[in-house]
Amino acid sequence: MTTSLWFDTWHPHNPLANSYGERFIYDSDMGKNARVNVLISNSEWRIPTTQSIGWHPIIEAIPSNPKMGQKDEIVWLDSPNHRFSVKVAWEQLRFHNQVVEWHDIVWFKNAVPRHSFLLWVAVQQKLTTQDRLHRFGIHGPNQCSLCLCNNEDHNHLFFECYYNKAIWWHVCDRCDIPRMTKGWEEWIRWATVTWHGKSFVNFSRKLGFAATVYYIWQERNARIFAGMSRTPNLVFDQIECIIREKLDLMRNTLPTDEKIRIQSAWRVNNIDS
Ligand SMILES: [Zn+2]
Repeated sequence: MTTSLWFDTWHPHNPLANSYGERFIYDSDMGKNARVNVLISNSEWRIPTTQSIGWHPIIEAIPSNPKMGQKDEIVWLDSPNHRFSVKVAWEQLRFHNQVVEWHDIVWFKNAVPRHSFLLWVAVQQKLTTQDRLHRFGIHGPNQCSLCLCNNEDHNHLFFECYYNKAIWWHVCDRCDIPRMTKGWEEWIRWATVTWHGKSFVNFSRKLGFAATVYYIWQERNARIFAGMSRTPNLVFDQIECIIREKLDLMRNTLPTDEKIRIQSAWRVNNIDS
């Protein structure tokens, strides 16, 4: 055996040097170069005779008898088959954030990735709206570029602005979403609870919400940075086009009354028209 008693990760308490410290190594009289086989006698784990105090929990924690006659080998403990793979290593190394409650309304199967990404930023209220720029000390006209009569923040842009409402109410009607005026955070909480699950209608709602936020933000940027503007109807046409395409992908799923109603509202069956 070549495995280091103190510094290799062979024991459930992991490198014993980390768990028990320098003093324990010194008291053991074994020296820092000791190998694991100093704990083996007659093919069994044994407490060393030189210093027995403190060794009991170490010996008792070893799950099985030593395998004699085999070479030491390095294994990847976090992998089910103890073999290394990039995937397992990445999962082990990456920082794991707690899954947020609104995860499902942003990231879902067959979502439009660019819409989901923008919504992910918007849900956290991290888009560079005028109110945030002001907070960062960047002073410009804090005015909504869509209606030109209110300050711009997430709540106004995506819920209060009459320009947005002209679009969002259309989407709501077609996706069976009640026309409600809520604050941004309250809306996210409501949608998270209400749109839970993978039904066809919830799929259309999530698609519609993400697409509306995306195209409203795009329109806002076009006005500020390119001096171009479109009517709510033209913006809605873009939303309709992409939602019809996406809903059509689910044409072959079970035809429920709800699904037929939503398909009809978005004219999915007349996709070439
Ligand atoms: Zn506005």
